[in-house]
Amino acid sequence: MTTPAKRVGLLYDPIVLSHQPPAYHPERPARVREAMAALERSGLLDRLTRLPVTPAAREQLERVHTRAYLDFVQEVVAEGGGVLDRGDTVASPGSWGAAIAAAGAAVGAVDAVMAGDVDAAFALVRPPGHHALSDRAMGFCLLNNAAVAASHAAAAHGLSRVLLVDFDVHHGNGTQDIFYDNGHVLYFSTHQYPAYPGTGRVEETGFGAGAGYTVNVPLPPDVGDAGFLEAFDTVLRPLADRFRPEMVLVSAGYDAHWRNSAYVAGIHERATVTGFAALSARLRDIADAHCPGQLVGILEGGYDLESLAYGVLATLRVWLGDAEVDDPIGPPPGSLPALDLTDLLAQVRRVHGLAPDG
Ligand SMILES: [Zn+2]
Repeated sequence: MTTPAKRVGLLYDPIVLSHQPPAYHPERPARVREAMAALERSGLLDRLTRLPVTPAAREQLERVHTRAYLDFVQEVVAEGGGVLDRGDTVASPGSWGAAIAAAGAAVGAVDAVMAGDVDAAFALVRPPGHHALSDRAMGFCLLNNAAVAASHAAAAHGLSRVLLVDFDVHHGNGTQDIFYDNGHVLYFSTHQYPAYPGTGRVEETGFGAGAGYTVNVPLPPDVGDAGFLEAFDTVLRPLADRFRPEMVLVSAGYDAHWRNSAYVAGIHERATVTGFAALSARLRDIADAHCPGQLVGILEGGYDLESLAYGVLATLRVWLGDAEVDDPIGPPPGSLPALDLTDLLAQVRRVHGLAPDG
């Protein structure tokens, strides 16, 4: 059976290249520039619907970030840039324009799928967002693009059940924190643990009206594609079937790929491009089952240029309906250890009231 072809939108504005951390920094403009070049070379760009990017409005940002924090970032940028958070999150003179374009692209992706212009949309943006807190920059992130998109889906489109899936190898502490007491956004994250930023334990499940709406799967190192897929199949899918999302938002980070160990300290999950394709297919299937056409991807991490580009291509090909996806990089050298995730996943299921073996 072949999946019918879908219309997939791409939101990309070269202004996101104007956020320029120092030359040594792994979160560099070449990340998205090279991904765009790969889209062009492969011919995939011709099959995507290019959608316009409008910078996020202050009102859209203030649903997530404090006024004082937004003023602070703008001031640092106006003064020519500087350190925003302990040295690893840095602003340059072009950072504000890039950041509001990134958040605006995420908002535009939500608007495009809600309007029915496309069946799915992907915001190819930087700086990334999922570590950014309401009042603080963190982990290369200035504005929390995915959180701005999710809150826009609720405020502007009246959605009350948004599923936000984060497969970046790092825990999206900012996104978790922003929606921790919110039952309208179900935040699901697979991430290496322990690792930066140190959050994302199973026991972090939400608070107040948000109790039960934060779902963390803290994976040990070296799980490979199989670990992520097992988490998606045994936790995410039944969770999504219970939640019945009206939109699936994806914090799509490609730094679980095995080549990122060379760029990001302590990261060692050894996933592949083929694995990203399979995760993207699971997400498409969840959207197809509950909210056809309401699927939005937003780029987060991924620091090895080639695996990032092929990862993005894999997601887009799968969402377009292609059955086959190229993985020119292939699997990691050596073999993966035999890890048994049964107990961990059973614990997550138990904590979240999912049947033991459903
Ligand atoms: Zn990451």
